[in-house]
Amino acid sequence: MQRLNDRVALVTGGSSGIGNAIAAAFGREGADVVVADVRREPKLDDERSVFDKLDEADAESLFVETDVTDETAVREAVEAAVSEYGGLDILVNNAGIYYQYEAHETPTEEYDAITNVNLRGTFLCSKAAIPELKDSENAKIINLSSIFGLVGGGSSAAYCASKGGVSNLTRQMSLDYADDEINVNAIAPGIIKTAQNVEWRENNPEIVADWEAKTPWPRFGEPEDVAAVAVFLASDESDFITGDILSVDGGWTAQ
Ligand code: NAP
Repeated sequence: MQRLNDRVALVTGGSSGIGNAIAAAFGREGADVVVADVRREPKLDDERSVFDKLDEADAESLFVETDVTDETAVREAVEAAVSEYGGLDILVNNAGIYYQYEAHETPTEEYDAITNVNLRGTFLCSKAAIPELKDSENAKIINLSSIFGLVGGGSSAAYCASKGGVSNLTRQMSLDYADDEINVNAIAPGIIKTAQNVEWRENNPEIVADWEAKTPWPRFGEPEDVAAVAVFLASDESDFITGDILSVDGGWTAQ
């Protein structure tokens, strides 16, 4: 049985990495999927196009070139989903960027860029989607927070600030829209092997050793580990879960 039949999902940053895996998994579960990203092709050469995966699953799909920091573009992406598929049921706020600097070394423009994409983008997409989600019988918002939205780490002050904001925006929106039965949850991944950290994984053995030491499970995560949880949070199975931040981190935050 497909768990997302007759659902329309919009996944930001869905062309690469975790978003690509989530969009593909939603398609395999029967959803129509709108991918809203600044790029259509995946970031890494060895990643498969999300649209090839969606075609393979016989899922309906649409690409809308969208920068989540652009309020007009975000509104147009939601409108595209509604005009193409007749409504919107699931929003995944996945688009995100990462830089690694301690606070005093962070270029202010990079602080602004991170908070703009990760936090303001999540806010703008939610703001645009919620009026449509209120009309859905199966409304779900899934935000991508991070272990660094729960605890400090990674020498990444701006990223931690942005993801801490995403975690608490999740909690507050869950309260604001509980009466509307819109489930609002977040996923807090640990180290997941994507383009976001490939340079560190390939060029910084001491950082990899540190990440391994902090990940009790004997491997890093794959995008599909996160996608499986996103499918659960998008499905009816999670109807009584709201305002939660689910860690998918191999035990990082259990310590
Ligand atoms: P990724 O592989 O870099 O993919 C992110 C996708 O989002 C890319 O296609 C990227 O395009 C796109 N994007 C970037 N800025 C955007 C914008 N302003 N508007 C629309 N799309 C934009 O990253 P990922 O590792 O899958 O991360 C997905 C989410 O999970 C992020 O929120 C990230 O912070 C979070 N997360 C990741 C990890 C991890 O270990 N990978 C851990 C915890 C949390 P460009 O490449 O062209 O910018």
